[in-house]
Amino acid sequence: MREEGNDPRAVLEELVRIVEEDVSRFTLRALGSMCSKPLPIAKIAYLIGIESNVGDAGVWKGVARLEKEVVEDLGALLSNPKAVGAIVSGGTEANILALWAARNYTKKREVIVPASCHVSFYKAADLLGLKVIEAPLKSDYTVDVDFVKRNITSKTAAIVGIAGTTALGVVDPIEELSELALEKGVYLHVDAAFGGMVLPFLKELGYEVPEFDFKLEGVCSITVDPHKMGLAPIPAGGILFRDDELIEPITFETPYLAGGGVRSFTITSTRPGGPIAAVWVLLRVLGRRGYREIVRKCMRLTEMLVRGVEGEEGLELLVRPVMNIVGVRAKRLSVRELSLRMRRLGWLLSEFPTHLRIVLMPHHTEELIRELLRDLKRVALKGRVKLRAALKA
Ligand code: PLP
Repeated sequence: MREEGNDPRAVLEELVRIVEEDVSRFTLRALGSMCSKPLPIAKIAYLIGIESNVGDAGVWKGVARLEKEVVEDLGALLSNPKAVGAIVSGGTEANILALWAARNYTKKREVIVPASCHVSFYKAADLLGLKVIEAPLKSDYTVDVDFVKRNITSKTAAIVGIAGTTALGVVDPIEELSELALEKGVYLHVDAAFGGMVLPFLKELGYEVPEFDFKLEGVCSITVDPHKMGLAPIPAGGILFRDDELIEPITFETPYLAGGGVRSFTITSTRPGGPIAAVWVLLRVLGRRGYREIVRKCMRLTEMLVRGVEGEEGLELLVRPVMNIVGVRAKRLSVRELSLRMRRLGWLLSEFPTHLRIVLMPHHTEELIRELLRDLKRVALKGRVKLRAALKA
């Protein structure tokens, strides 16, 4: 830090230069992120809420009320308007909170997760001293429920299902997991960090969508992140519990706060009001119809990409997408090679061991998808040229 401060205008100009570079990279050719460009109105709302600390709810009563209403709305979207929860730093914190509640509620120390689960479950297990049992996937990339069933023991605290996996957007058979949870008396957490704000709208658009939310009695908690398909600015993760009995074992009293004692179950104590204000505004401004139209657009882009990949013999889909996440690989190139070549052309895609993941988000355009397909095809074709040269040699 310098002794004397610099001219504010010059500092801000430098900041804009640095941050804008990221923003334009993100906006132009990044199809590897699950976050979207926040809507302008969400940025305004964020700024309006920026001074508030919902962690001190006795002082910041307004944002505390906004959070309650957001939780009610998200709960209603996921079939339980009486759900209790919070807007937290992201899906990672939400998943940690769920496993923390499960551990303390059941007083057991094992968790069974699908092999497709997000890394946050391993972080949670490490922090919470839980033993992880990884359930394999079936050929459709959903969790093997028979394996989960065989591995539930008297030590099992929780089982986990994913509604929209990180790698492919597939939905585990949550209905079967729910029956299993009820039969065996274990906690079921559903990670719908991405899918929670897609699946209800897909259903309204007429897509066949499996049950995955609180309608299923065995579901104890759900992660649903507004900063993914909710179009909210980061950090806006969401955690919902079926009822307050489940959060009781992770609730702590903070007596010294200026606004009076607060009981909270989130990991951080001071919590920003900006993201809550943004989510509150988005839910009201967009409404179900607005979100439905956003999902419709993302699915149009998804179907366009799927048709393009299916029409190119050098490319293949890993699985037919359930939502706006597409897994692609090249028949004659390793994933690494495909990824490197696409990166050289300026594309920022996510690399998984079996495929490249493309997430079609609301800020993407048909033009962008056409360009992406053109480059994917070009790169896949190069693979063929290389293979022919190798065969001739
Ligand atoms: N759960 C799922 C299914 C995810 O895909 C992700 C992130 O991509 C997370 C949880 C973690 O969310 P965050 O990055 O907001 O912590």
